[in-house]
Amino acid sequence: MVEFGSARAITLEAASFPNRVHGEIRASNTPGKENFVYREPIGVVAVISPWNFPLHLTQRSIAPALALGNAVVLKPASDTPITGGLLLAKVFEEAGLPKGLLNVVVGAGSEIGDAIVTHDIPSFVSFTGSTSVGKHIGELANGGDYIKQVALELGGNSPFVVLKDADIEQAVKAAAFGKFLHQGQICLAINRIIVEDEIYDDFVERFLAHVKTLNVGDPSKQDTAVGPIINEKQVKSLKEKIAKAQEEGAKMILSAEIKGQVVPPHIFTEVTREMDLSRNEVFGPLVGIIRAKDEEDALSIANDSMYGLSSAVFTADMQKGLRFARGIRAGMTHINDISVNDESNMPFGGEKNSGIGRFNGEWILEEFTRTHWISMQNEPRQYPF
Ligand code: NAD
Repeated sequence: MVEFGSARAITLEAASFPNRVHGEIRASNTPGKENFVYREPIGVVAVISPWNFPLHLTQRSIAPALALGNAVVLKPASDTPITGGLLLAKVFEEAGLPKGLLNVVVGAGSEIGDAIVTHDIPSFVSFTGSTSVGKHIGELANGGDYIKQVALELGGNSPFVVLKDADIEQAVKAAAFGKFLHQGQICLAINRIIVEDEIYDDFVERFLAHVKTLNVGDPSKQDTAVGPIINEKQVKSLKEKIAKAQEEGAKMILSAEIKGQVVPPHIFTEVTREMDLSRNEVFGPLVGIIRAKDEEDALSIANDSMYGLSSAVFTADMQKGLRFARGIRAGMTHINDISVNDESNMPFGGEKNSGIGRFNGEWILEEFTRTHWISMQNEPRQYPF
């Protein structure tokens, strides 16, 4: 339901794009010259999308690309070829999209991904996925005969900071939702909970009590909070993360048996910034809670990451929250809310190893069009020789 809402929102936003694209007329220093800036379609956009929100993360590229006059070649993730591609293609077909404008190629990224990126036709590659594959695509896109534009929306390591004056009860509920929604398989999911020393123990106690109330298991039940993980490979990587966290000295205060692909919430305390849980993206229902000495320390921990996608801070003082938020090196920061937010009219994207480019609103409108300066010399220009 969450995903459908987002896919619908970007579709409506994109439907407004044909009437929002505009050019400019600019002054010239040259007598008799008129300057125009035209905004034109790019041509063919290659879209490669991930499995975690397949419908939305595909639609947020293809709807704006098509609305702005481009054609698309789409490769959905191997786990989700239908919701991430074929279903949308069918919908566009039924809606009367001219043949050839949207092409879906299904297959493993490792087999066909490189061929799509290096093919001479797409001049833009819009990739959403992991940082390692994104780096590879960035290199490939500009390593051959062509220089291609790329948008890379990659992994995250969102900090969720709770300052000592925060409404702890509200922060606890937010932390649980922002961490365990979709089993934590969200690039924006809370990856590190950072709590000021003075309220650390209180927060941990209340967070543990709240998470224990979450229903785990059957995804078809409306009241299930944590359902199964996408595939065996991901479950294996989460088991390795749990073992590593314990090896590194984190204290596991909540765990339960992993049954099939259902991984129940695991909470670790006394986690430090050096541990694997803090340094790398988790992408599952595990979370570490880090103790910060004070506000300054909390900011330093929050910024101590190779990633910079989303982030969040809880405080009763909005001015303090704003100051803190502006100090975070990330593409998105939410004060008194979770790090998981996406609005079709707001810039979505990250910094550092979380990628380059922004989705939504004017930002995607600019990315999926090219600017063309055309000047008109209306009277003969006087050349010096
Ligand atoms: P992934 O990088 O494994 O795969 C993403 C896509 O790339 C898939 O379609 C895959 O088939 C394809 N691919 C794989 N190898 C390729 C290659 N050599 N050439 C071209 N394409 C190739 O990522 P995933 O496991 O599907 O998704 C999870 C990751 O995506 C997480 O790291 C998550 O944070 C990230 N993500 C980021 C955002 C964002 O907006 N920043 C959103 C969702 C997910």
